[in-house]
Parts: sequence; structure tokens; C-alpha cells
Amino acid sequence: MKDSPGLTPLITTTQIRKRIAVLAGQISHDFDSREPLMIVSILKGSFMFTADLVRALSIPCTIDFLQASSYGTRRSSSGTVAITGSITVKGRHVLLVEDIIDTGLTINRIVDHLRLQQPSSIRICTLLDKPAARRFPCTPDYTGFRIDNIFVAGYGLDDRERYRELPCIVAVER
Ligand code: 5GP
Ligand code: MG
Ligand code: MG
Repeated sequence: MKDSPGLTPLITTTQIRKRIAVLAGQISHDFDSREPLMIVSILKGSFMFTADLVRALSIPCTIDFLQASSYGTRRSSSGTVAITGSITVKGRHVLLVEDIIDTGLTINRIVDHLRLQQPSSIRICTLLDKPAARRFPCTPDYTGFRIDNIFVAGYGLDDRERYRELPCIVAVER
């Protein structure tokens, strides 16, 4: 881990790897008869999770990206979500891959946005879930880890663009 003060290890690289193996097994089982699965990775935070998850799947998939910005450089939700990137999901079985679901605003906006295109199904896979922070209802279909309502970074997640490269999840002191 980075030798930075104010970072407390929360979820180790080994814990992440083991959990992804379990999630990938469940997803591969659930989508077995419907192929290929359309992975939609929500940038930037889920880039590392997506890369590890797709390598652990045992079913065919396609991989697309959307960028959603709700936080900017701040640590609390701005209340608006900008979605960039155009993808075609009509008639596809979509798995949204998120880094973290906090208030639920971002994922709800993305689901509403994609539903307009009439995909066959939309499911949600998130590495981290903070259920205590929820303001917009969302129950992910696949969750890596449920965490307390604290600010975390690493493994793709940032604190003002820092720490995305860490191989583990750390709690960032405010
Ligand atoms: P929501 O729209 O659910 O409130 O927030 C979702 C987005 O906020 C996530 O995709 C992520 O970008 C950001 N976010 C929420 N909580 C955290 C956190 O603890 N750490 C980091 N790095 N980002 C967070
Ligand atoms: Mg995200
Ligand atoms: Mg961020």
C-alpha cells in the first residue's frame, strides 16, 4: 500500500480477489442461457473491478463503458448526474458494473437512461454498497462488500483523483 498518512486498510487485495471469484461464479450461472452478456462498466471508478470481474466470468460477454459524474471533486453528491458515452442496449441482457452505490442517485439515473432503449434486462453489480447512505431506492443484484457510511478509495475509486491505482480499498480520513 501507498505510504500515505490518513489511509486505513479496509478491504485487502486477497479479500477482493476471493469475493470476485464468488460473484463471477454467480453471474456466470445466472446468465448461462442468455448470451452474450452485455457488461456496462461505469467509469471511472469501476475500471479495475470490471477488468478483474470479466476475467473471472465463464460465459461470453461484450464490454462497454459509460461515464457518470455526480461528485466532481467533492465528497458529497451534487444532486445531478452527467452521463457521457453512447451505447446500444436494445434487446440485450445488461449487467451494470459499478464501483460503489451510495445515495443511489447515479445508478437510478443510469438505469432510467438505458431503459428508454428497451434492453431485455438490466441487472446491477456493485463492488461496494453503503446501504446506510441510500436516498434513492436501489437493491443491487450482486454486491461485493457492504460497508459503513465512510469515505473509501483505492481499487479504482478516487479521493480527488488520487488513490485509484491502489490494489486494495482504504478508508480515507476526512
Ligand atoms: P451515489 O450517486 O450513489 O450517491 O454515488 C455514486 C458515486 O459516488 C460512486 O459511483 C462514486 O463515484 C461516488 N462515491 C460515493 N461514495 C464514495 C466513496 O466512499 N468513495 C469514493 N471514492 N467515491 C464515492
Ligand atoms: Mg461509480
Ligand atoms: Mg470520484
